[in-house]
Amino acid sequence: MHILITGAAGFLGSHLTDRLLRDGHSVLGVDNLSTGNLENLAHHHGEPRFRFMQWDICQPLPAQEEPNHLDYVFNLASPASPPEYLRLGIETLRVGSIGTENMLALAERHGAGFLHASTSECYGDPLVHPQTEDYWGNVNPVGPRSVYDEAKRYAEAMVMAYHRNRCVNTHLVRIFNTYGPRLHPSDGRVISNLMMQALRGEPLTIYGDGKQTRSFCFVDDLIEGIVRLARSDEHMPVNIGNPAEFTILECAQAILEVTGSKSELRFEPLPENDPTRRRPDITKARARLGWEPQVQLKEGLARSLHYFKSKLAVGV
Ligand code: NAD
Ligand code: UDP
Repeated sequence: MHILITGAAGFLGSHLTDRLLRDGHSVLGVDNLSTGNLENLAHHHGEPRFRFMQWDICQPLPAQEEPNHLDYVFNLASPASPPEYLRLGIETLRVGSIGTENMLALAERHGAGFLHASTSECYGDPLVHPQTEDYWGNVNPVGPRSVYDEAKRYAEAMVMAYHRNRCVNTHLVRIFNTYGPRLHPSDGRVISNLMMQALRGEPLTIYGDGKQTRSFCFVDDLIEGIVRLARSDEHMPVNIGNPAEFTILECAQAILEVTGSKSELRFEPLPENDPTRRRPDITKARARLGWEPQVQLKEGLARSLHYFKSKLAVGV
């Protein structure tokens, strides 16, 4: 298949590129490099089935660059870590709205399938636990995180409208916290922050009392879930995440064990509207996609250790 991936130079986009090339497809990676990095794709240099285009998807692709034939569009472009989407608030709203519509229109023109990377943030600070796809969420529409949450919620509505009104073959994945090699070492997410701090022997920064929970999914599991969803006939949102739920304190403890670090904990203020708990109900993914995660937290951290150590070595 001829596949376009937006956000290809990012953490998840680069892993998806690897997987789809490995499966024999041709990939056009599109990315404006706002939070991504070409280093993530450097190993595909010289690969004839891969082409990269530096482009902001808030502009339609230039006509001369548009592929003649497209079978599938994976739309992953968006800042994703809280510090990055707070810094790039307007860009985040624009890529979720204008950028997503540009890519939907492209998919429609080519009769291509379309998968959009949505998020557990659609549930906000959830009042239903664990979160099922039919829960509508508890989101502050004007809080600091709203630039991300509302962009993603708007994008879901736009995707469903292209499905219902324009018959585009769309898919929506609600991704729960995913980690692994190529997670940017300084983008501020909890696993990258704590891994780098542990390896440097610095105190691990715990926001609030550390009793808030998250459910962490290893990147290989997530990519497998996305690929299965793209091939399915499920058009409503599907949670993909690991239902094993950890407090941030438990996550810090796991990181200390895996790195062998003696770092202490340093408690810092909780960011505004930081969700108190997160856990995906994956009944739907199990039933519709035959998918469930294979890699548990400590194993996934151990499989990421080499990458974070390599970043430490180059002084990131
Ligand atoms: P990332 O920041 O590593 O990758 C996002 C990529 O999108 C970057 O390479 C960035 O340069 C690119 N991008 C941003 N705006 C763009 C624009 N206007 N035009 C073209 N490219 C643009 O983040 P990630 O963790 O790989 O996340 C990928 C997608 O998955 C995002 O949509 C994110 O919201 C979603 N997601 C990720 C997680 C997670 O835990 N990693 C959780 C939920 C949802
Ligand atoms: N967090 C933390 N220390 C850090 C970074 C994050 O305690 O150095 C907390 C953050 O407040 C949140 C959780 O870890 O409760 C997950 O944060 P992350 O930025 O990874 O993503 P989120 O799930 O909030 O989007």
